[in-house]
Amino acid sequence: MAKEKKLVEDITSMDVDFAQWYTDVVKKAELIDYTSVKGCMAIKPAGYAIWENIQKELDRRFKETGVENVYLPIFIPESLLQKEKDHVEGFAPEVAWVTHGGTEELQERLCVRPTSETLFCDFYANDIHSYRDLPKVYNQWCSVVRWEKTTRPFLRSREFLWQEGHTAHATAEEAEARTVQMLNLYADFCEEVLAIPVIKGQKTDKEKFAGAESTYTIESLMHDGKALQSGTSHNFGDGFARAFNIQYTDKDNQLKYVHQTSWGMTTRMIGAIIMVHGDDSGLVLPPRIAPVQTVIIPIAQHKEGVLEKAYELRDRLAGRFQVKVDDSEKSPGWKFAEQEIKGVPTRIEIGPKDMEAGQAVIVRRDTREKIPVALDELETKLSEVLETMQKDMLERARRHRDEHTYDAVTYEEFVETINTKPGFVRAMWCGDQACEDKIKEDTTATSRCMPFEQHKLSDKCVCCGRPARKLVYWGKAY
Ligand code: ZN
Repeated sequence: MAKEKKLVEDITSMDVDFAQWYTDVVKKAELIDYTSVKGCMAIKPAGYAIWENIQKELDRRFKETGVENVYLPIFIPESLLQKEKDHVEGFAPEVAWVTHGGTEELQERLCVRPTSETLFCDFYANDIHSYRDLPKVYNQWCSVVRWEKTTRPFLRSREFLWQEGHTAHATAEEAEARTVQMLNLYADFCEEVLAIPVIKGQKTDKEKFAGAESTYTIESLMHDGKALQSGTSHNFGDGFARAFNIQYTDKDNQLKYVHQTSWGMTTRMIGAIIMVHGDDSGLVLPPRIAPVQTVIIPIAQHKEGVLEKAYELRDRLAGRFQVKVDDSEKSPGWKFAEQEIKGVPTRIEIGPKDMEAGQAVIVRRDTREKIPVALDELETKLSEVLETMQKDMLERARRHRDEHTYDAVTYEEFVETINTKPGFVRAMWCGDQACEDKIKEDTTATSRCMPFEQHKLSDKCVCCGRPARKLVYWGKAY
C-alpha cells in the first residue's frame, strides 16, 4: 500500500501549484520525456497515441470538406521568406537558420519552416494558371520550428507537430467561406471529440496572424483560469498572391489574383486536454480521444479462471472498444493508480466473487463511480458509460468556463476582476490598439477574441471611455 500511495503522491496538487501539477502529470502519465535538445521533447507512446487519434479524426473531417494532403520542403530560402513584409516581420525573431551544408557555407541561408505560407505561395505560383485549377484545398501534416525562449511540454516547444491547411480560391467570398468553415470544423472537433468547449471569434489587428487580413480563433479556458488559443483560421485576401504573383486567367480572359487562407491545429491540444480535464490523480482522457478506453483489471488473478475470464472479456470487447488487460504482477491497487494517472476513461474489475455472481464492475475515471454490470450486458453498458462520460466531461468543462467568465464595465472593475479572478473577462472596447496595449501593460491580460456572438455591456470602451465598437474576451493566456 505504501508504494501505491507514493505513485499518486508524486503528483503535486493542482491547487498548490498548477504549473508543477501539469509537469508532474505529463511525466507520470508517460506522455513525454525531456531530451538533450533544449526546448524540444520526446513524445512517448502514450502521448503520441493521443496525437495519432487527433490526426485520424481531424484528417477524416478535413477530407469530408474536400481537403487533399501534400508535403512541401522543411527549408525556406531567405529570399522567399522576405517576400511578404508583415509575415517576415512577424516570424523573423523566432526562426532557426541553416547556414552550412556539410562544411560549405550556403550562398543563401535557409530557415527551418516556422509555418509554410511562403512555400505554398511559391508552389501555387507555378501550379495555378487558369480558373480550372481552382480551388486548391491542400493540407500538410508536419513539424515546424520556432525558437521560443521559454518552453513547456506540448504548450510551447521549439519543434512541434501540427497540420497546416493552405487554400487558394478564385473569389474573396469563397476564401472567407473556407476560413469560417475550417474554424467551425475545429470548434466541432474540440467540443465533440476533446470535450473542450470553445469561444469562436475574431482576433484584433494586434493579435492577428502576421500577413493575414483577418484571423478567426477558438479560445478555451484551462482549469486554472488561463486561456488557450486552440486553433486559428486566417483569411489572407489577395495580399500573399500579390507578393508572390499568384494569378490565374478567369473565364472572362482577365488575369486575376487568387484569394488565400490558412488554418492550423497543433500538439498543444494535448496540453489542453490535460489542463481542462485532469485532476490530482492524473490525466482524464475523454473516451473519444483515449488510445485505451477501458483496462480490464483482474482481482486475485492467481485464482483459477480469473485471468482466463479477463482475456475472454477482452476478446469480446475488442471489436467495439480500445481495450487492454493489465495482467502484470503488480497489485490491483497499484494497477488502479496507474489507470488513473494515465487517464484511461474506465476500468473493469473482475475477480472470483464477481465471476460467481456473473458480473463485473465498471469504474469511471472522472467520477470514480462504481457500476456493477451483468456480464452478458457488458458491451451495452460499457458503451453507455463511455457516452455518458464524454457528455459529462464537456458539460463540466462548460460549467467551469461559464462560472469563470466575468463582465466588467468600468476600468477599476476590469483590473480588479482580471487580477483577482482567474478566467475570462468580457468588456467593451473602442477598437484602438492603444487600449489593448494599456490593458496588457497594467494587467498582462490580452484580448483573446471578439466573439462572433456579440452583445452590448455598455456604450463605452472599458479602458478609455470613448464609444465602444466590440465586446471582447480578455484573459491571461498560455
Ligand atoms: Zn479604448
